[in-house]
Amino acid sequence: MLRKKKPRNYYLKIDTKYVSYTEKYVQFSYVQTDNQTGEKKDFDYKVPLVETVCHFGGTRYWFQCSLFKNGKYCGRRVGVLYKGGDLFGCRHCYELAYSSQKLNRRDGMYSLFRVLDAYKKIDKLSEKAKRYSYGGELTKKQQRIAKLQSEAFYQYRHFQDAESGREGRNKTV
Ligand SMILES: [Zn+2]
Repeated sequence: MLRKKKPRNYYLKIDTKYVSYTEKYVQFSYVQTDNQTGEKKDFDYKVPLVETVCHFGGTRYWFQCSLFKNGKYCGRRVGVLYKGGDLFGCRHCYELAYSSQKLNRRDGMYSLFRVLDAYKKIDKLSEKAKRYSYGGELTKKQQRIAKLQSEAFYQYRHFQDAESGREGRNKTV
């Protein structure tokens, strides 16, 4: 669930993932079970977020791939991370074909990104919104916030569906 910890600092808690806007990272923590041996491994690491200014105003966040490949730090700015091995990284590091990238845009990480985007906008609007209603009606800004909240909720549900779908597929492997 989304929860507010401090003003202007939102954490996105989706079972195992945490996001900090102020310190600009996503925390990945999960337990992975080896299909063959049943051995459990714990993972807990941060992936930095990079903020850029959009052409038509506003900002958007990118992941900065933190994988090391052949001893070299990747550091690529990407919109989607994949779990091609133990860790989440960019498609270049996992050498994924473009077709699989397109497919993955429909999966959970893409939706997670949309949730982040919506909450970033809500954060900005909330700062500017001085009053909640005017003449018994929600103000324009509050209407926009409400719309963004339902967008975030929709994308969050999509993320959950994609995640449980993935788990289901893993079980049958
Ligand atoms: Zn990479």
